[in-house]
Amino acid sequence: MQPAVIAIHGGAGTITRAAMDAAREREYIEALQHVLQAGQRILAEGGSALDAVTEAVRLLEECPLFNAGKGAVLTHAGTYELDAAVMDGATLAAGAVACVTRLRNPVLAARAVLDHSEHVLFAGAGAEAFAQSQGLELVGPDYYFTQARHDQWQRALGNAGMALLDHDGAALVAQGKTQASDPIDPDSKFGTVGAVACDGRGNLAAATSTGGVTNKQVGRVGDTPVIGAGCYADDVAAVSATGTGEMFIRTVAAHDVAAQMRYAGLSLEESARRVVMEKLPAINGRGGLIAVDRAGNVTLPFNTEGMYRGFARVGEAVNVSIYG
Ligand code: ASP
Repeated sequence: MQPAVIAIHGGAGTITRAAMDAAREREYIEALQHVLQAGQRILAEGGSALDAVTEAVRLLEECPLFNAGKGAVLTHAGTYELDAAVMDGATLAAGAVACVTRLRNPVLAARAVLDHSEHVLFAGAGAEAFAQSQGLELVGPDYYFTQARHDQWQRALGNAGMALLDHDGAALVAQGKTQASDPIDPDSKFGTVGAVACDGRGNLAAATSTGGVTNKQVGRVGDTPVIGAGCYADDVAAVSATGTGEMFIRTVAAHDVAAQMRYAGLSLEESARRVVMEKLPAINGRGGLIAVDRAGNVTLPFNTEGMYRGFARVGEAVNVSIYG
């Protein structure tokens, strides 16, 4: 038996202690612990890495604290457009949906694409029709609404229409730094969610889901549903990313973690470090990723102030952290 493990993230960005009160911090920590315990249980019962990451991301989508499913950020037009992907490292099977507006759980639609379609990536209305044909739940736009994301969007609109990362926006609001006259750092906030796992058979899987970046242009697709950019799994590593999506696409970030291990013989930790601390910053890419390999090693690097993150090995206590 392999040492089964699951890791999750709830986005990276300007997450500082100063911008967080104790009650809010508790909420995040408890949410992450709850999701990790659910994933840990699936692995402990002999479930697959693919099932564990799908369920972990579904639970993160259900939680309004994170920018995926309920609690997603708004586009420039005040609408919601969600992206998700899932990949099975054992078979290289993958499924993804982009720009969906009516799916309660985009990750379940991505999983249905993986399981039941000859295609890999569906977008927009076609993705929703496919999900509906698979019996998945459709919701109205009100389902995704949270006052916090709405306020962030309003502030972003008042700041020269910049797009911003979810947790950066939250930090600026908390610091009172988002008056209309203040520039918002467009690179400072990401709230995507993701999970990676290695199961008892040594199989790997990854899943990622997001509402994207606050105030994004309608039709913009980030790295999350792009296989190899924001989500990737093979028999070497499973990776889920969060951050400035355009840079993760340009560096093919998630795939690069596995590729450097396969072709250059790097360890999981060193490979992920080079991507997050060297290759992404070289083009102003901000964010982080979570990764596991088939020996059960875990790494959770980020180049922002914080990243909601944690991991849980079967039979061991759950580990959760927020700050650097
Ligand atoms: N990577 C996501 C995107 O660009 C945003 C995030 O991680 O919060 O859509």
